[in-house]
Amino acid sequence: MTYIASESRYQDMSYRRCGNSGLKLSALSLGLWHNFGDVDIRANYEQLLFTAFDLGITHFDLANNYGPPEGSAEKNFGDILHKHLRKYRDELIISSKAGYYMWPGPYGEWGSKKNLMASLHQSLKRMRLDYVDIFYHHRPDPDTPLYETMSTLDLMVRQGKALYVGLSNYPAQRAREAFDILRQLGTPCLIHQPKYSMFERTPEEGLLDTLMDNGVGCIPFSPLAQGMLTDKYIKGIPEDSRAARAHFLKPEHLTDERLATIKALNSMAMERGDTLAQMAINWLLKDKRVTSVLIGASKTAQIKDAVHGLKSNPFTQGELDRIETILSK
Ligand code: NDP
Repeated sequence: MTYIASESRYQDMSYRRCGNSGLKLSALSLGLWHNFGDVDIRANYEQLLFTAFDLGITHFDLANNYGPPEGSAEKNFGDILHKHLRKYRDELIISSKAGYYMWPGPYGEWGSKKNLMASLHQSLKRMRLDYVDIFYHHRPDPDTPLYETMSTLDLMVRQGKALYVGLSNYPAQRAREAFDILRQLGTPCLIHQPKYSMFERTPEEGLLDTLMDNGVGCIPFSPLAQGMLTDKYIKGIPEDSRAARAHFLKPEHLTDERLATIKALNSMAMERGDTLAQMAINWLLKDKRVTSVLIGASKTAQIKDAVHGLKSNPFTQGELDRIETILSK
């Protein structure tokens, strides 16, 4: 059966302008870091994509190394795109990235022109696309001159292989330097992808202001701290959870102190009539400098929960203060 998108898909989602650009992104984006690899169940990740799109999520975030194995998320996404979503291509914002280790030898990671061009070509081939909508440099490279990396991003746009470019994991000062180069080259940076959540506040120490000053959008990744900012770990570690299955979130991250914080936040979310996941997402979206929140999901119910939460009541100042008090303990 070929998938047919819901006709009401644009009814409930909001779309926010990305920095000073002409591009709007759905308030929620879906990332394919986990749950879309060859180790995962196709029937499940197909439904994740369809559910997201049916609910108005237009932006799907990939990278060369997502899987496992590396590359398989792009290949699997490409298969589904061609089988079911081809006619919706112009309704989709598809991103990829390069910078982390992908293949052996001196050209398989970081930020040289050689690495980035080769990796983009590989990603386009795996997804069977002519272009990606956004191409990111995935992490700063301490060795390659910034000009080389930025001029490669500019070249990708000039060659029509990417419509926009972005940066990820760049600290504020390095990001500012990169924005200046990109602006001079004529390809302004569209977006920055930092790790940002109630549990990871570094972007507040200068990065968010830098993005605002430069008209660059912000798309926080791991907004739920990989699932910790939900109610799932309150009664232990479920067998099918990321903490039990994947090595990026480890059971030892769930310390007693952290669990006490999670429980206090969860009680507050329930008082508001929200789930903790909804409260954690809306806490990021309250900031106008944030364009879209980049969630992950292993189940369609998690996507529905996040989207339905967009209708929650705005925070009062008292509630925001209470969140800070809980987080400071
Ligand atoms: P999240 O913090 O949103 O964590 C997602 C995970 O939390 C889900 O897979 C699920 O895990 C759990 N979860 C989500 N919703 C709920 C819910 N309502 N109730 C209970 N559990 C829930 O984001 P990710 O860490 O997955 O990152 C999102 C995306 O960000 C990635 O896919 C990727 O695109 C991007 N990213 C970018 C990076 C970069 O360097 N640029 C680095 C990391 C991510 P479970 O399996 O336990 O159900």
